[in-house]
Amino acid sequence: MNIEVLRIGQRVVRDDRVTTHVALVARAFGASKIYMNEINPEILDTLNKINDTWGGKFTIEFITKWKDVINSKKNISKIVHLTMYGENINEIESDIQKEENVLIVVGAEKVPREIYEQADYNVSIGNQPHSEISALAILLDRIQKGKQFEKKFSNSKRDIIPSKNGKNVIENKKMD
Ligand code: SAM
Repeated sequence: MNIEVLRIGQRVVRDDRVTTHVALVARAFGASKIYMNEINPEILDTLNKINDTWGGKFTIEFITKWKDVINSKKNISKIVHLTMYGENINEIESDIQKEENVLIVVGAEKVPREIYEQADYNVSIGNQPHSEISALAILLDRIQKGKQFEKKFSNSKRDIIPSKNGKNVIENKKMD
């Protein structure tokens, strides 16, 4: 499954830390790309450094109009909108697991009505309000059934060997 994430930010005061964490979760939990409209070059810098050290090809694209992203993806991907008002993840996860390409939409504050209408799936991770970071992490885990944690991140400088007690890290010679 190819997974991309669209983060729609509408905060008056930008919340860069949350946005960065949404991007980090997207990368670490198996998405290939994030589109975001809260443009802060530092977020790009942070993610580029993470890619450089820990590998993989995760990309960020800054956008100005979320509608353009949805319109360009509508025919190739299923639009999965995370909202506390949606269908329960427990009911819908097996359908989403069968999809080939998905674009996951997460909000910041109030999400425009049109997103609910454009979505192929409006999905709730429980019907209580929490956060886009936790909602995204749980959705990514459910739809990939944990397989994302078996994925190798290519061309990394460092790899972690899971260890019972302590840190075991190998340093690689990186090919540029
Ligand atoms: N009341 C807001 C709303 O209109 O959905 C909650 C905003 S919340 C701070 C930001 C984002 O987190 C939401 O747009 C949604 O993508 C995600 N989110 C929060 N709680 C969720 C839940 N229970 N299920 C799915 N997504 C959730």
